[in-house]
Amino acid sequence: MSHEVMEQAKPLSWHPVTHSSALSPVPSGSRDAVLKFYFGPMDCGKSTLALQMNYNHRRQGRRGLLLTKHDRSGGPKITSRIGLGLEAIEVDDGLDLVRLVTAYDRIDYLICDEACFYSVEQIEQLADLVDEHGVDVFAFGLASDFRSVMFPAAQRLFELADEVSRLQVEVLCWCGRPGQLNARVVGGALVRAGERVVIGDTDASPVRYQVLCRRHHRSGELGEGTGDPSPE
Ligand SMILES: [Zn+2]
Repeated sequence: MSHEVMEQAKPLSWHPVTHSSALSPVPSGSRDAVLKFYFGPMDCGKSTLALQMNYNHRRQGRRGLLLTKHDRSGGPKITSRIGLGLEAIEVDDGLDLVRLVTAYDRIDYLICDEACFYSVEQIEQLADLVDEHGVDVFAFGLASDFRSVMFPAAQRLFELADEVSRLQVEVLCWCGRPGQLNARVVGGALVRAGERVVIGDTDASPVRYQVLCRRHHRSGELGEGTGDPSPE
């Protein structure tokens, strides 16, 4: 008797009701989730790609969250220089990303812009979300800071990601070589010391950033008109 009951119970509990519908063409569990890191200097189109990727996944009926930190708009949004923009969740230092995501009913993917500014612990949390919760994570950010030293979060992404891609969307140094590194410029001169994160390129800030090739990042030449000592 008990054998029969078990036989009957099996199909019910054994075959979990996956909420498959037209909106979820890929049943969960059919493949491993992935952690991907896309990196490049500023202006290489990272945020534009992040928004495009969100659009593509959303069209397939997947549910995602957009995260960012220190976006250039100053608010919790992902904005790109070509004018697209979407609301996003600001990743504060203390934010637990596993808690954030698991509080939702269902999240299939995360778009993590400016991931270079997250904490290393938060990168670990992203890996947990991939491995333990089946969430695809697409992270975007700079690899190195203005000194050409790797951001700790970017380094951890290099170490953990399933896939790392360098984005090169025609950002050129003034000399015409591919732009690879961000230089911090204060008063017309490249600086090599200071706080790791200083928001620049705003009206209120004396700091601006310029993309240079490796050669000119190392030599400190900023090109015609900007490299000369300020006349003041
Ligand atoms: Zn150059």
